[in-house]
Amino acid sequence: MKKAIIFFFIYSLCVNAQSQNQYFQLYTDSAELKNGNDSMIREFEMMVKKTQPSFSFNGLSTESPNTFMPGQYRSKTNKIYQVTWPTAKPAMGPFLTSVMGSVEEGEKGAGLFFYGFFFPHEIGHALHYNTKMVPGNNYDAEYEANVIAVLYWRSKGRHKELDQCYAMAKKILPKFVNPVPENADAKQYITEHYNELSQNPLQYGYIQFSQIVTILEDKSLPDFDTYISKYFPK
Ligand SMILES: [Zn+2]
Repeated sequence: MKKAIIFFFIYSLCVNAQSQNQYFQLYTDSAELKNGNDSMIREFEMMVKKTQPSFSFNGLSTESPNTFMPGQYRSKTNKIYQVTWPTAKPAMGPFLTSVMGSVEEGEKGAGLFFYGFFFPHEIGHALHYNTKMVPGNNYDAEYEANVIAVLYWRSKGRHKELDQCYAMAKKILPKFVNPVPENADAKQYITEHYNELSQNPLQYGYIQFSQIVTILEDKSLPDFDTYISKYFPK
């Protein structure tokens, strides 16, 4: 009897832990979304503290507004904004369906990228601001945030999900449009046109997904702890 109770207790703990920290899935509940992202922020902070014990995100937390906005970090409030799928769907669903090929694939893509890959990406932007090491141009800022996302998920052993992100990014990339004119300097062009590009999902998506493919193919990347140390120059 005792054994059965202990077994049940351990089993329910496992189920609980799993359901709390799934990620890479659609979030329909704003409290669950906030809890998931906030626990990632705290864990991320602990990982950075291994390199720099005095580091703090200075109270960084997640807010889940009821009106649509793309997932983003804002330095003014030191908050990460993420909306649930029911809030995002009217604005993003039709676009994702057309790019990914079906409603089902569109929702799979939303789960993989918006509620998985891009969580630590936004924390990466917060790391830039909270270490006062913001990259000098928007191209590099996005690239470094994407590297941080890849290395974070690798450190968590989420290789299967990263493989799925890679396969999907490769598949959909031809549907996006490279906004950089021939002969233009990509970093300069993207930095100067960043606001208008971020309003155009076909162009903005090209920048993000082409970076993600390049990073996932890059065999020279170090592990998370080594990479993070560059934000704490001695
Ligand atoms: Zn970003």
